[in-house]
Amino acid sequence: MKTIAVLTSGGDAPGMNACIRAITRSALSKGIKVIGVKRGYSGLIDGEFVALTSRSVGNILHTGGTILKTSRCPEFLTKEGFNKALANIKKAKIDGLIVIGGDGSYRGALELAKAGVNVVAIPGTIDNDLHYTDYTLGFDTAVNTIVQLVNNVRDTSLAHDRISVIEVMGAYCGDIALNVGAATGADYIIVPEVKFEPKKLYDRLLQNTKNGKLCSIVILNEKVAGAGELATMIAKNTGLDVRPLVVAHIQRGGTPTADDRIMAVKFGAKAVELLVSGNSGQAIGIYADKVMSVPLDKAFENTRKFDMELYKMTQNLSF
Ligand code: ADP
Repeated sequence: MKTIAVLTSGGDAPGMNACIRAITRSALSKGIKVIGVKRGYSGLIDGEFVALTSRSVGNILHTGGTILKTSRCPEFLTKEGFNKALANIKKAKIDGLIVIGGDGSYRGALELAKAGVNVVAIPGTIDNDLHYTDYTLGFDTAVNTIVQLVNNVRDTSLAHDRISVIEVMGAYCGDIALNVGAATGADYIIVPEVKFEPKKLYDRLLQNTKNGKLCSIVILNEKVAGAGELATMIAKNTGLDVRPLVVAHIQRGGTPTADDRIMAVKFGAKAVELLVSGNSGQAIGIYADKVMSVPLDKAFENTRKFDMELYKMTQNLSF
């Protein structure tokens, strides 16, 4: 293993930079050269490669986004684009590739592994929607960012006796909504894992009002409904004053939390270790607080279940 390359792909997540730093310095400390691939799989296809040095990854640990940039790359799904990527990997004498990204990026990594490339994947997505691992990089930061925003919204909702519907990301995984809801004492949490029954929501909000609770917070996962549409429905069916808020990309950015930074270091070091020991084709994760890895083709399995207990507990407290 003389040269390792790293790329970030798909949606960016806080902690990606800390991970790029950890990978680069772990590899350099073993005498391995490091190449940064710009803009995810697009950079593989276009041969956009930069040398990463200890200095070029300095002062990035605490920053959100990704210094390598990221992209969605439809061309990588074509045979021609994929073969171009393979040819560039060969030409640049890349012996091992580390992909940091979400489930789409993982599918790309699996295709590369099948084509004979030594690949290791690191879960980098705020959505926590890779279920072989307890946590993905960026999730903790996103949850904490949204919690701060909900605190702000609560102040003004309380001042006006309003209902706030706050739409958060997570794709088809309700973990962001659930954890934000639990941490902010939300009155109602709407996630893809639990069938949404509008009548139950209206009844809860009306009951809250009856109980003298005039400000309620509803946390809504982005795939179940839009905040605007749901706020209109609630207002129409309850007569209450409702305001929607779409948190959008604010939840993607920002300085990573200590937990995400530490996870980034562990994931980065583990990825290099796996490549050096000849164990490629793996996806790194955390299980029971331990860093581990599973074969890439097992990374799409639904091993971690939605925390229904926490969901019920939280819903039970909101009256
Ligand atoms: P994320 O990694 O955050 O889930 P995407 O789903 O957009 O983001 O995937 C990122 C990129 O991974 C895509 O733009 C594409 O280039 C690549 N990719 C996605 N699905 C596949 C697939 N089935 N085979 C090969 N590459 C894929």
